[in-house]
Amino acid sequence: MPSVISLRCRECGREFEPLALHVCDFCFGPLEVAYNYDEIRSTISRASIEAGPRSMWRYRDLLPVGDAVPIDLGAGFTPLVKADRLGAHLGLKNLWVKNDTANPTGSFKDRVVSVALTKARELGYKVAACASTGNLANSVAAHAARAGMDSIVLIPSNLEAAKIMMTAVYGGTVVAVEGTYDDVNRLCAELTSEHPSWAFVNVNVRAYYAEGSKTLAFETAEQLGWQVPDHVVVPIASGSQLTKIKKGFEELAKVGLIEGSGQVRISGAQALGCSPVATAFAEGTEDIRPVKPDTIAKSLAIGNPADGYYALKVIRETGGGCAAVTDAEILDGIGLLARTEGIFAETAGGVTIASLCKLVENGAIHPDEKVVVMITGHGLKTVEALAGTVGPTVTIKPTLDAFDAALGSKLP
Ligand SMILES: *Cc1c(COP(=O)(O)O)cnc(C)c1O
Ligand SMILES: [Zn+2]
Repeated sequence: MPSVISLRCRECGREFEPLALHVCDFCFGPLEVAYNYDEIRSTISRASIEAGPRSMWRYRDLLPVGDAVPIDLGAGFTPLVKADRLGAHLGLKNLWVKNDTANPTGSFKDRVVSVALTKARELGYKVAACASTGNLANSVAAHAARAGMDSIVLIPSNLEAAKIMMTAVYGGTVVAVEGTYDDVNRLCAELTSEHPSWAFVNVNVRAYYAEGSKTLAFETAEQLGWQVPDHVVVPIASGSQLTKIKKGFEELAKVGLIEGSGQVRISGAQALGCSPVATAFAEGTEDIRPVKPDTIAKSLAIGNPADGYYALKVIRETGGGCAAVTDAEILDGIGLLARTEGIFAETAGGVTIASLCKLVENGAIHPDEKVVVMITGHGLKTVEALAGTVGPTVTIKPTLDAFDAALGSKLP
């Protein structure tokens, strides 16, 4: 693995061997993968990437794995859709939707899991484990099945039915925990020390896991013709994805794939019922106060976000904003995206669209900026949230008369 130098502490800068470590044993800061960009720059090119697979693995030179065969279900290289109808509705001239509902298990988590499990297998692990708000569970169970690894997945017991089923079907061990995600996560931290032979994708191999999110930035730039957008809007759960999107754009500049510095304004999106980062942003503080989540956006319901502090810093440093939206606004956001662009997103997507609306309204996003919104999960995963809000236009007897009586005057 020539291009990865080390794991580097984000706080004190100390370097560690690239093993299954996630915190600095000197200052307890989080570790992040460090690369040798000069070396990568000398081998990578737009042409070499464009000749690669039509998946996130076309960027493997910028991912923390060696020559290993990836554990790959085809994650990534999802459509970047020019969203003219949604843009017109919002008064935005240049709006794109990164449609990550198109991933193999229906969410962006396939990106991070494909990297985490590939690395875990390279490090000799045979068991994949995680704490999840739902989508990570789906993806870990699926990728473990593909690799012939065992999986142990812990989820809050109140998750949406589809997310539980979509995890269990792959045959791993699914543990429903009576508590919030933060309770589940605490239990997982304890299990990590009890079971050193398990690769916990969001604990002991988290540094590698997190790198997978950079591919959202890589693909966005490539799909815009090797240009960075002016502004991206990103949903926040732990905050990891948001920070890695920044890292991804900057790396493209460092290895010479784009002009300029890779500087993009990055805005965050949260549900009001779980908005510790948006609250700190609004209050102008660096302190993120943990909350007890209460929102239909369960995939984003992390009350004590591990990377919240760093996400907030990225938002402020890049000149972005951060919105928090109500459950009713989330449902409106899902409907608006579906009706204008034909994309059905889960509640996290509703959070992102509703936040986009707010950020445009309050002037954080300018009408002529090139804006990309990250739509990170598929709507079929959270149909419960829409119960009672959508259904048949009419229900009729199977006759022409009944059809005409119900709809005759309303048809196009
Ligand atoms: C996990 C998740 C996110 C955000 O994840 P971070 O923990 O902030 O990296 C966004 N959208 C969906 C649908 C998710 O499942
Ligand atoms: Zn440190």
